[in-house]
Amino acid sequence: MENLLHSSGCQALFLDRDGIINEEIGYLIESEETRFVTGIFDLCRSAQQAGYRLVVVTNQSGIARGRYTEEAFLNLMDWMRGEFEGQGITLDAIYYCPFHPEHGVGKYRRDSDDRKPKPGMLLRAAQELNLDLSRSVFVGDRCTDVGAGNAAGIGKMFLLSGTENDLAACSAHGTYETVHSLNEVREWILKQL
Ligand SMILES: [Mg+2]
Repeated sequence: MENLLHSSGCQALFLDRDGIINEEIGYLIESEETRFVTGIFDLCRSAQQAGYRLVVVTNQSGIARGRYTEEAFLNLMDWMRGEFEGQGITLDAIYYCPFHPEHGVGKYRRDSDDRKPKPGMLLRAAQELNLDLSRSVFVGDRCTDVGAGNAAGIGKMFLLSGTENDLAACSAHGTYETVHSLNEVREWILKQL
């Protein structure tokens, strides 16, 4: 009975966006400038086939800073969803945080439990999609991702190298495994089956 209770929720693969789905270029807003990270489609396809829900969790301080509008961001995400659909992959949910406590303009200048390293987006996803976070996976490229994943009680946290200069510094934010390609994450998921 205990096992049944523990396994009631779905598994999810949480994905940071910038640096994991698309190459990090800083404040991406144009579909024409989007370069998908090598291996992202294979990873998502395999995870989806293995029963994982696919959930994007992204800080979007570009909205807070007035670099682009919420509408423009949502349009880009619609386009990205379409690119995934074209690869036979459905993104189950996209959570974003448009706030920034210092650099936000107007209504976007405020603290938020959604802004990573806080776990708000992951916890909300768990509730809304009935996810078991302890059996879920999160792939990010920054210490703030590590912080959010650990605070949410994520089962397996991966940190993709390349964005953070000092990967070791992320250990102050919790536990994680460093990978150098998304294929390493895919192989880990396949090994669990
Ligand atoms: Mg990132």
